[in-house]
Amino acid sequence: MDTTTLVARRERALGAGAPLFYDKPLHIVRGEGVYLFDETGRRYVDMYNNVPCVGHANPHVVEAMARQQATLNVHSRYLHEGIVALAERLAALHGPAIESVVFSCSGTEANEVALRMARGATGKTGIVCTNATYHGNSEAVGKMTRMGAGQNSVVSDVCAIPFPERLRPLVPGASESDLAEAYLERLRSAIRSLEEDGVGFAGFIVCPIFANEGLPDVPRGFMARAAEMVRAAGGFLIADEVQAGYCRTGRWWGYEGAGFTPDIVVTGKPMGNGLPLAATAASKGLVDGFRARTRYFNTFASSPLQAAVGMAVLDVIEREGLQENVARVGASLKASLHERKKKCATIGDVRGHGLFIGVEMVKRGSALEPDSDRAIEVVNKLKDRGFLTSNAGAFRNVVKIRPPLVFGQHDADEFLTAFDATIAEIDG
Ligand code: PMP
Repeated sequence: MDTTTLVARRERALGAGAPLFYDKPLHIVRGEGVYLFDETGRRYVDMYNNVPCVGHANPHVVEAMARQQATLNVHSRYLHEGIVALAERLAALHGPAIESVVFSCSGTEANEVALRMARGATGKTGIVCTNATYHGNSEAVGKMTRMGAGQNSVVSDVCAIPFPERLRPLVPGASESDLAEAYLERLRSAIRSLEEDGVGFAGFIVCPIFANEGLPDVPRGFMARAAEMVRAAGGFLIADEVQAGYCRTGRWWGYEGAGFTPDIVVTGKPMGNGLPLAATAASKGLVDGFRARTRYFNTFASSPLQAAVGMAVLDVIEREGLQENVARVGASLKASLHERKKKCATIGDVRGHGLFIGVEMVKRGSALEPDSDRAIEVVNKLKDRGFLTSNAGAFRNVVKIRPPLVFGQHDADEFLTAFDATIAEIDG
């Protein structure tokens, strides 16, 4: 079926407006490792998808999934050792403060559980988030979603503060420590205003690497001091590790690189390599309180299938040394892109952690004026060359590079050749 016909059918079947990537949408039919194949058999290097973290159609995961589904899959109101073992293994990947786990099926659900834990334990409802973020699509979690820059508004019990960054700082010209203090002051005043409004302060939710904000470089010390401030105010710090976790940054958790310890950790996307699997992990006290208050049940969560697949993903990450792969290949790719920045006036910045890199496109000759059109052009031309990326960030001008964790050095080398050709083509 040709692409135009399929797009028209899709619009009728799914309704107009269901998002699609690229000027000419991609019709893919198969995946293997870091590669995706279209209907003509053309191979693309997947440099976008973090969900298939151990690679598309990973044989170990597929086998574990098939075996478990052929043996037993049922809801969670029976004893089953698998899900207990997965919870234990997950908790052990954190420090001692994280003891117990509530499983769910999406990042949105897991964030919703985190909100309910923090709100239930404090008896207050006010949440602080950052102002160009995304945490999910439900009504409650959607209130913390602020795509686009500068949405510092208060929506009933959710208050957004500017995300911390050094490229376009809140106080131009300030020293790094003064800048950290300026962002902390916004957090302090958000907490104060929630308390004064009578909703009270329950918690602060952040993606530790501010992924949806565009991976900003954060003023040193901000997160550690924010954590102290949140706890001193009686609230909980929620780390949304849906994007940052599972070795994405070259460490197990984004918070390790950001220099703080969370009270509640939310994970999702890569946990099941595509099988819906998410989790909210916290102290036993927080989880016990949440369970006692809510009697939480989620039909597809905590199942033997989630357990088998979740375990298989962890096995592959550990067995294949993917954390080390991410740290090594990510550092080399970022350094190579930094070299490109020195020679290209329209690359305003190169940022990121591990295999999550943002290349910020700016207008030529401007003082870092974001250029989302150029980012979109780069993304489309890279796709024509067989490399799949997207654009993101508060100004949508960041070319987002976030491949499966199995992305190798030879893939990075091929990508750099395509990237150079793309920039040369655009700049003429
Ligand atoms: N948190 C973050 C940081 C995310 O990026 C996303 C999804 N992009 C979510 C939560 C929501 O996850 P899901 O789509 O699985 O509900």
